[in-house]
Amino acid sequence: MEKKRVAVIGAGVSGLITCKKLLDQGFNPVVFESDSDIGGVWGHTLGSTRLQSLTIVYRFSDFPWPDSITDTRPHNSQVMEYIRSYASHFVLFRCIRFKHRVVSIEYIGTDEEKMVVWESWAGNGEAFGGGQGVWLITVEHEGSIETYQMDFVILCIGRHSGLPNIPKFPEGKGSEVFQGQVLHSMDYSNMGPKKAAELVKNKLVSVVGFHKSATDIAAECANVNGSKFPCTMIIRSKAWNVPNHTVWFGIPMALFYLNRFAELLIHKPGEGILLWLLATVLTPLNTIDGSRDSPIPLYRECIHPRIPQLAVIGYCESAASLFTTELRSKWVIHFMKGGLKLPSIASMEKHMREKESLMGSYSHGMSRGLSCFGGIHTWYNDQVCRDMGYNPRRKKGFLAEWLIPYLPGDYVDVTP
Ligand SMILES: Cc1cc2nc3c(=O)[nH]c(=O)nc-3n(C[C@H](O)[C@H](O)[C@H](O)COP(=O)(O)OP(=O)(O)OC[C@H]3O[C@@H](n4cnc5c(N)ncnc54)[C@H](O)[C@@H]3O)c2cc1C
Repeated sequence: MEKKRVAVIGAGVSGLITCKKLLDQGFNPVVFESDSDIGGVWGHTLGSTRLQSLTIVYRFSDFPWPDSITDTRPHNSQVMEYIRSYASHFVLFRCIRFKHRVVSIEYIGTDEEKMVVWESWAGNGEAFGGGQGVWLITVEHEGSIETYQMDFVILCIGRHSGLPNIPKFPEGKGSEVFQGQVLHSMDYSNMGPKKAAELVKNKLVSVVGFHKSATDIAAECANVNGSKFPCTMIIRSKAWNVPNHTVWFGIPMALFYLNRFAELLIHKPGEGILLWLLATVLTPLNTIDGSRDSPIPLYRECIHPRIPQLAVIGYCESAASLFTTELRSKWVIHFMKGGLKLPSIASMEKHMREKESLMGSYSHGMSRGLSCFGGIHTWYNDQVCRDMGYNPRRKKGFLAEWLIPYLPGDYVDVTP
């Protein structure tokens, strides 16, 4: 195969996995990372943040956690160490250009009028299209601007890095009228544990939000101030946060999401009448996993039907982001190697409209940014396996197939 120039943007978990898989398949990617280190979000967490997923779920399928990590939810410094060992072991640092912030990307070589009437992705449904189009990547590095020409771009920029999500308030009703200090959790994390503790000491703190960072910050405030200066949490919608993510006799909740039975609870595009009936009957049991940022319609959670020669990895988060990402990166590379051709743009868009409308019906008005349903993790993985010519049923025996959680080890032999 003619050597293709491939850019990966971001060296968080998704970028590192993608880089490793590309190297395995003979590509020679360039990874642009705006930060001075790998790890993405794991390099900027609160001092107290621990892994929420279990280590058996949050692991690289080809690189186990070291024996020294006995805690099933290690501290963020240990997660960072694990990620660093992965990058060192597979000699990934040589591909990464740190402090290289991608400031723009532009597709050139094909007329826009032609692109608008394309029936197939990139003109022919293939990863590199007809060969005329390329991406110009403009990168800012220590004050200077450089431009690179690439045949394929893989965006691994994460959903939580860099840009704080701050709501817009009507004039006169925002932070400017508040007497105290207003800080986004990202800035609080970046202060480091010592300075953060000094900041909240002996202060009345209100935390707005009810997810991971919010509860971690409230717990940090409580540790510093005890009951003398109680911390208040302001929550827009009621939600059920599972304590320690465990239910009945300490069984980890995530394991329920990861078995095939869980997918029966949710309507999926293209399901037959039997599955439709089951999902309808079992609906009260389901829970939704996702976030509320604006959604991006991505086919197989990786491909925008109208953006050629570009894939996104790491957008679809689940109860087990790391191995969801790993499987998607294999699918994209399989596609780049010519292993599959995409369906027409019209049929990809139809598929996504159907998916989006089903997600909307579950999310009780919160559908804006659901990237995927955590509860049908195996269903997403099945599609990817089938596309790549692998049998998605990977367990031995009927009961194991339906009840035992699917974990990274189940997909080790799925290769691009
Ligand atoms: C506090 C916290 C705890 C979490 N815990 C869990 C957990 O327990 N289990 C789980 O499954 N998931 C968890 N997650 C989700 C987590 O986001 C994913 O597991 C995973 O780490 C995301 O990796 P990523 O590489 O896709 O994105 P990121 O880690 O966000 O990495 C993106 C990288 O892209 C770089 N980048 C962005 N823009 C540019 C640009 N323009 N140019 C160059 N580089 C750029 C960034 O600097 C960053 O290094 C957690 C997230 C957070 C924030």
